[in-house]
Amino acid sequence: MQQFDLIIVGGGILGTAHAFHALQKGLKVLMLERDNYPIGATVRNFGQVVPSGLADKWFDYGLTGLALYKAIQEKGDISVRQNGSVYIASDEDEQLLIHELKAHYDNKGYNAQLLSSAEIRERYPAIKPEYGKEALFFPEEISVEPDKMIHRLHAYLKEAYPHLQIVYYTPVTSIDESNGTVTINNQFRSDKVIICCGHEGKLLFPHIFSNSGQIVSKLQMLRTIPMPELQLKGNILTGLTIRRYESFATHCPSFSKIKTPEHYDELKKWGIHILFKQATDNSIIIGDSHEYAPVSQSDDLGFHTNHYINELILEEASHIININSRQIATCWNGFYAQHNDHNIFEHDITPQIHIRTGIGGKGMTASMGYAKESVDVLYGN
Ligand SMILES: Cc1cc2nc3c(=O)[nH]c(=O)nc-3n(C[C@H](O)[C@H](O)[C@H](O)COP(=O)(O)OP(=O)(O)OC[C@H]3O[C@@H](n4cnc5c(N)ncnc54)[C@H](O)[C@@H]3O)c2cc1C
Repeated sequence: MQQFDLIIVGGGILGTAHAFHALQKGLKVLMLERDNYPIGATVRNFGQVVPSGLADKWFDYGLTGLALYKAIQEKGDISVRQNGSVYIASDEDEQLLIHELKAHYDNKGYNAQLLSSAEIRERYPAIKPEYGKEALFFPEEISVEPDKMIHRLHAYLKEAYPHLQIVYYTPVTSIDESNGTVTINNQFRSDKVIICCGHEGKLLFPHIFSNSGQIVSKLQMLRTIPMPELQLKGNILTGLTIRRYESFATHCPSFSKIKTPEHYDELKKWGIHILFKQATDNSIIIGDSHEYAPVSQSDDLGFHTNHYINELILEEASHIININSRQIATCWNGFYAQHNDHNIFEHDITPQIHIRTGIGGKGMTASMGYAKESVDVLYGN
């Protein structure tokens, strides 16, 4: 039976980030992925790496993530592009919030630039002038291509670290521990295991997942045909995002006093806010919505894509850029787990078996930074 220092369950970004930091410590690592290649949240997202949207230590994890993605990109192309993030305010309340967030980041020394409506028109000609009143731009931030990044990162890690093995099409269905040694699927042995299984709560320890306080969120996403005529560089976040993201909620004194206009009520009911990310082929990823269920009831979220939600997303998107339903090429659902009270679910079953999952909607931004601390806590600095 093969013996490893560490086995990681799950090859999404959170598992891969744990593998990366363990490899940096010289550990012999095996990563086991259920599917032929990752097809979970890590490949279904926008690929926006946006620390500016996070608060407190999660902002710091995001900064560490930015630096690490950029450093890896210098060694091998993992699809990182540095075109910044922009939050586009469409009314006076949203303008007030971006000013307050800028003041917060000025205080922290994080580069944030206000853009006037004329500057928005110049930099983002695709944004309708009547929508873009003012914007807040973060030049350091990056995007990645979600359908490419994780596969390239796996390939890069395998080449750079010979003491890494990644085995696909291997669902982990049993984890046993005796005398400090962990045995997985009766096939692999290690000193430790870290479970980064995304929202999959049934295959391993279902009773722990059911009682973990996690909920599953289902998100709907759309992607256009290639649209080179619309130039939308970087991560584009709009008014409802300003009214939703943690950094605004935490750091803007006016956040709690601001009312959402009634015309947004139906969108808010479905957890819709509008984000855009133009991919390298010039198609535009548009989303998203949020529906929620407890982990143990997540099947109730259904396998369908709700056409009404897509129409709401598209209708609001069409107020921001020139887009119509005939330009939509594909749509899909994504799922992630999040915790009601914590930013992540951390649970140690024994001193050798650790669950680290439920990173919610910030995993592409914060996983690399969070996992550094997580591995330091388990193995020492
Ligand atoms: C639509 C959408 C848009 C998003 N946009 C962004 C964004 O722009 N920026 C951002 O920062 N975040 C974004 N997120 C959040 C981000 O995608 C997630 O936080 C992140 O991908 C979670 O990574 P993960 O590794 O925990 O989960 P996953 O990517 O789901 O990976 C878990 C992996 O574990 C495997 N697995 C599960 N159980 C087992 C088992 N028993 N044995 C073996 N393998 C197993 C699964 O097959 C899967 O590959 C978005 C999420 C969604 C759904």
